[in-house]
Amino acid sequence: MKTIHDFNFNHKKALIRVDFNVPLNDSFQVTDTTRIEAAKPTIIKILEDGGSCVLMSHLGRPKGVQNEFSLQHIAATVRDIIGVEVQFVANCVGAEAEAAVANLEDGKIILLENLRFHEEEKKGDVAFAEQLSKLGDIYVNDAFGTAHRAHASTSVIASFFGENKCFGSLLAKEIESIDKVMTSGEKPVTAILGGAKVSSKITIIENILDKVNHIIIGGGMTFTFIKALGGQIGNSLVEDEYLNLAKDILAKAKAKGVAIHLPVDAVVADAFANDANIQLVDTTKIPDGWMGLDVGPKTSEIFADVLANSKTILWNGPLGVFEMEAFSKGTIALGNAIVAATKNGAFSLVGGGDSVAAAKQFGLSTAVSYVSTGGGAMLESLEGKTLPGIAAILNA
Ligand code: AMP
Repeated sequence: MKTIHDFNFNHKKALIRVDFNVPLNDSFQVTDTTRIEAAKPTIIKILEDGGSCVLMSHLGRPKGVQNEFSLQHIAATVRDIIGVEVQFVANCVGAEAEAAVANLEDGKIILLENLRFHEEEKKGDVAFAEQLSKLGDIYVNDAFGTAHRAHASTSVIASFFGENKCFGSLLAKEIESIDKVMTSGEKPVTAILGGAKVSSKITIIENILDKVNHIIIGGGMTFTFIKALGGQIGNSLVEDEYLNLAKDILAKAKAKGVAIHLPVDAVVADAFANDANIQLVDTTKIPDGWMGLDVGPKTSEIFADVLANSKTILWNGPLGVFEMEAFSKGTIALGNAIVAATKNGAFSLVGGGDSVAAAKQFGLSTAVSYVSTGGGAMLESLEGKTLPGIAAILNA
């Protein structure tokens, strides 16, 4: 795997695909700078080598050129975070961009306009990718958030750089973290899968059955498994068309010696609301009219025990409706157990939309080993898919 550390960027222009798809408020100010900060180590290494950086990214889902999606809005924030002046160029291809790059001095940064102002970007258009490729000597992909897309700037472009392409340090870290969970991590390996539905996690469960020792299941998908085992789930979320598959997974796990841990108690509510009436019941005996919205304390204890004995941990998906305070305790307890295991030497990866949000909300993100920056890209990696953005760099 070639990374920026295999290159000396002295007098070189690095064309870097970053993921600056950041949230903006109504005054076009960046409200969460995580993604810009995440790209900083790559940019700094290149500048310190004596090279220059041409940054390209998408922002939002524009239809043609739309000022609200202009990357000009974030140029000042990039400057403040990196600590170097940023020259904004109002088009990502063409004469203006090529002239700006030709005049770019070592130690300087250019930020190109939104790639998705051109529909060719998402189409993976080869001619558009070739135009982009004129804007640098070495192509660096540091955008994990779009690595699962076969777009012009994320994968097609790589073929124009021969050997002169590599992963930025952020993308390299993402790849290493996933690899630790999927192949090289110390055992026992435990995967925690929560969230709403079995249907969206089924491919992941099937893929990781051969790779982990324990699977902890929580969240809404618990109840499809409990019903498949003959339990009463009241009005909890269920996907009846997945009952057979749930049984199948339990049988396969048993055959492979993978321990599946289902919640034994649940916080149930008579409405999907923070101020609903709640009670604590056995997960297999949920009364009609009540729905399970969080795991109970007995479950939290059992899960904490499994985690205390794990050496490698993957967390994808909350254990309850953590957005509501009344149903957040199970997810918080789980997060704390992951933090405790990490302090004891375990490697812990938090990945996939809502668990990242939960880790951030409960102040746990700095106490785990790694928090992934890619939602869809993370899910597809866990499903065992080869991501086009990664394959394009690996296949020199
Ligand atoms: P996902 O995107 O599949 O990871 O799902 C995350 C969502 O699942 C969060 O918004 C949670 O509120 C929701 N969720 C977690 N537990 C439950 C549950 N027991 N019932 C319904 N929704 C849940």
